[in-house]
Amino acid sequence: MSEHKLAQRRELPTELTWDLAPVYADAAAWEKDFSGLDEKISAVTAFRGKLGTSPAALRDAYAALDALERSAEKLYVYAHLRADENTADGENSARESRIETKFAELGAAVAWFEPEIMKLPADAAEKALNAPEMAFYRRSFKQLLESRAHILSAEEETIWSALSDVLDSSDNVYSMLNNADMRFAAVTDEKGVRTELTHGNYIKFLESPLRRVRRNAFKAMFTAYRDHRHTCAATLDGTVKRHAISAKLRHFNSALAAALFNDRVPETVYTNLIDSVHANLEPLHRYLGLRKKVLKLKKLDMFDLHVPLRAPAKTEYTWEETKKIVSDALAPLGGDYTKTVSRAFAERWVDVPECRGKRSGAYSSGCFDTPPYLLLNFRGTLNDVFTLAHEMGHSMHSYSSNASQQYHYADYSIFVAEVASTTNEMLLHHHLMAGCADRDLKIYLLSHLIDEIRATVYRQTMFAEFELAVHRLSESGTPLTADLLDEKYYELNRLYYGLDADGLIRHEWARIPHFYYNFYVYKYATGMSAALKLAENIMSGDREKLDDYFGFLRAGSSRDVLDIMRGAGADLETPDCVNSCLALFDRTVKELESLL
Ligand SMILES: [Zn+2]
Repeated sequence: MSEHKLAQRRELPTELTWDLAPVYADAAAWEKDFSGLDEKISAVTAFRGKLGTSPAALRDAYAALDALERSAEKLYVYAHLRADENTADGENSARESRIETKFAELGAAVAWFEPEIMKLPADAAEKALNAPEMAFYRRSFKQLLESRAHILSAEEETIWSALSDVLDSSDNVYSMLNNADMRFAAVTDEKGVRTELTHGNYIKFLESPLRRVRRNAFKAMFTAYRDHRHTCAATLDGTVKRHAISAKLRHFNSALAAALFNDRVPETVYTNLIDSVHANLEPLHRYLGLRKKVLKLKKLDMFDLHVPLRAPAKTEYTWEETKKIVSDALAPLGGDYTKTVSRAFAERWVDVPECRGKRSGAYSSGCFDTPPYLLLNFRGTLNDVFTLAHEMGHSMHSYSSNASQQYHYADYSIFVAEVASTTNEMLLHHHLMAGCADRDLKIYLLSHLIDEIRATVYRQTMFAEFELAVHRLSESGTPLTADLLDEKYYELNRLYYGLDADGLIRHEWARIPHFYYNFYVYKYATGMSAALKLAENIMSGDREKLDDYFGFLRAGSSRDVLDIMRGAGADLETPDCVNSCLALFDRTVKELESLL
């Protein structure tokens, strides 16, 4: 039996790796910029004690802060992309940790900024708010004044900021464990080839038509987490405590309220989502029943959720084919959009194949002064084709906002971050469905859409519910032990899925890095609901609706997120978006039932 080994990074074809030269020509160029940071820090600290002197001084201080953050972000992006190429490379991870330490240092150096604004006498604040010099920064300034109740004194902010690196350590320990040190048993595939299980190839095993392969991959994965569950519980406990303590110190009622504050999202958006999903679990259970029947299983289990109900005639896609399919699918967005997508390929914004030590999964990452890079672990499945469409949505969103906004308002909120990516996935779904004569492919695509809504709306809402529950437990003084986390997770998994999975599924919380992101996952669910609506608008061919969509891509953070989404055509303050998404799930399940 042969052992399949991952390639080393140096063995990859150059054209399939990203080109980071436009960011920094080499490590020396990075060092040069890095050493210039101190001067930019001094330019900001020169304004200390002077923010109230005149609106012009306040504006100039904002501009100096922007200049500092802008360079620091560029330094960080380069360092983290290099580090992710091979998480075990010492030189790259040292560079990344230097910029992270510098971030903590510069955070401490400018920590006086917000408290000084908070302390402006009412008349000075009012004058600055209405001054023509402050026209550009008015939105930020106004938001800051609104958050006055949640900012600590200058001295306290300095302490908090100086500790930020240390306070992040439970996140970092988890990330190192999960990405660099965790090893999984080898799994034997359908052809008898034994391969070391990785985060990157796990889903491929779960898509195997052989139940033995799926079950073994699942067992290998969750046995490893079971064996590290106490460490994972300690790191999650540390992170949740940090969220809870920060919220309390900053006078929020809860960690949830603190997390939603910046986006000006009411808590009802979060709780309505959970309520809507609870009210619509029946179509999910009907779908699981259909799966069991089609797969001819006595008992459906958690590792049976990813195997395609029908294998599509074509299961392997080359990178060249993938690029073409995705470009064609995005054609309804117009020529300017697809031209930029071509640039992404020609100018090597994409890091394509898996290799030893490379960061798992897929992402889009960059900043105002870099291309919006894409990291993939491409293995040629149809799922990978969807991943490219998805990550390209992120990158095109960043590209459009960076091109349309000035630096200060270019960065869009995480709340809308999954909308453009999911809209692209929907366009790909429709592109592949249109004129599809292959009944099996149709079945595959319908179940793919169902699985996407299952994974993004049902599953992420379950995560959101888990996250809320563990934060509330921690806030009430209950330590998050492995046993408690197992029990809480198992209970929710039974409510949503009613599946047992040899009990191993109870450790799944340990595998989810998103629980460290401070109420991030619900945005996947609201984002997908909005995206389905917007994709429908784009495909209607209505020029005005397309313009509204581009208004969203270009908006950056120039307006509040719920406003931006309303302007784009998706009102998230009502339960309508989520409900219509779950209704689409129900209809798609019915369509699949009738095809089968
Ligand atoms: Zn995404």
